[in-house]
Amino acid sequence: MKRIMIVGGGIVGATIAYELSKNSEFQITIIDKDVPAQASTGAALGLLFGVISQKKQGRAWELREISLRRYSQLLVELQEQTGETIPHLQGLIHLCFSPEEMAKWQELASLREQQGWQLELWNQSQLQAACPTLNTSQMVGAVYSPQDLQVNPQALTTTLLKAAEQNGVTLSWETEATAVSVTENGDDKHSHTVHTNQGDWEVDHLIIAAGLGSFPLTQHLKKPLPLTPVLGQAMRVRLNNDNGLSSVVTGNDVHLIPLGKNEYWVGATVEFPEQPLVDPLDKVWEQACSYYPALAEAEILETWSGERPRPSQQAAPVIEYLEGYDNVILATGHYRNGVLLAPATATKVKELL
Ligand SMILES: Cc1cc2nc3c(=O)[nH]c(=O)nc-3n(C[C@H](O)[C@H](O)[C@H](O)COP(=O)(O)OP(=O)(O)OC[C@H]3O[C@@H](n4cnc5c(N)ncnc54)[C@H](O)[C@@H]3O)c2cc1C
Repeated sequence: MKRIMIVGGGIVGATIAYELSKNSEFQITIIDKDVPAQASTGAALGLLFGVISQKKQGRAWELREISLRRYSQLLVELQEQTGETIPHLQGLIHLCFSPEEMAKWQELASLREQQGWQLELWNQSQLQAACPTLNTSQMVGAVYSPQDLQVNPQALTTTLLKAAEQNGVTLSWETEATAVSVTENGDDKHSHTVHTNQGDWEVDHLIIAAGLGSFPLTQHLKKPLPLTPVLGQAMRVRLNNDNGLSSVVTGNDVHLIPLGKNEYWVGATVEFPEQPLVDPLDKVWEQACSYYPALAEAEILETWSGERPRPSQQAAPVIEYLEGYDNVILATGHYRNGVLLAPATATKVKELL
């Protein structure tokens, strides 16, 4: 049996734990210094911009395609195993504000058709018919992506962990990896023990899926992976009376996600540490209200923020062996797409093992 430790109980660590749990040769432990599904995952909106992303080829598109295919079975599979329903909404509507933008989407729709995926282009009247409560006066139309979806990230993460535990994975929360003992053989390094506040674990493989916490761990291993925290703020609001949206609507990076019972998530800001913005959440809110005027009357139930882990010196995400180590795998730095790319990350980690 290979003893595998996963550090990090966010969406990435949870997906890896579940996918690896199907292999009976692995004895898996997942730890988190907190409780799971907090940190970046706890703040996420769960939008899976796959088919509708502007990534056309290469690694970025390959990862999206792997995730899209896996998501088409994953939610049903998890529900069958655990009995848990994971809230999700099928289909995304992307608003378009200029003919040039529509032309760009037309080009993408043709490419996606060749790749075996669908995108529908709607003119303004089709958009208005699909979403009668939207103010479409500034819009020329929309792109509808029927195969993309939005999923509740916290519910998905906790269900993945429940299924992983049922499959024999050991879960250990409030367990912080503080140090790793390493043997060195020339240039090759091998981690053999993970030290935590709850005791020591001997490991054959260590998977670092610790989001922003991956930086101090890699620093400890003397191969620091620099990550920039990119702040995101969002809110949950409720309307008194709503005949409103039943699909996720997104435009100019402002997303409206219907939750049912007249409630919506609205977000999210993208705030780089070196470029402070003035009242960014207010600006998101103003834009959301301009698309969907009924929101102006909404009650704000809560606001929250989280930090996205963005690799400072390489493309997101980072899924590779830590340089110099034969058994430490990085699965981190997912920046704005950790929920989308978690299944593809698990697939790549399986290949690396
Ligand atoms: C406002 C906002 C909106 C977003 N919306 C979307 C979206 O719509 N779609 C999308 O795909 N992505 C979205 N994201 C991005 C997404 O949330 C992240 O990419 C994703 O959550 C990263 O997951 P993770 O598991 O790598 O990290 P995290 O969720 O941060 O989990 C890492 C875990 O590791 C633990 N940890 C750290 N160090 C240690 C240690 N030493 N020992 C033990 N445990 C440790 C932490 O406690 C944490 O629980 C959004 C992010 C934000 C902030």
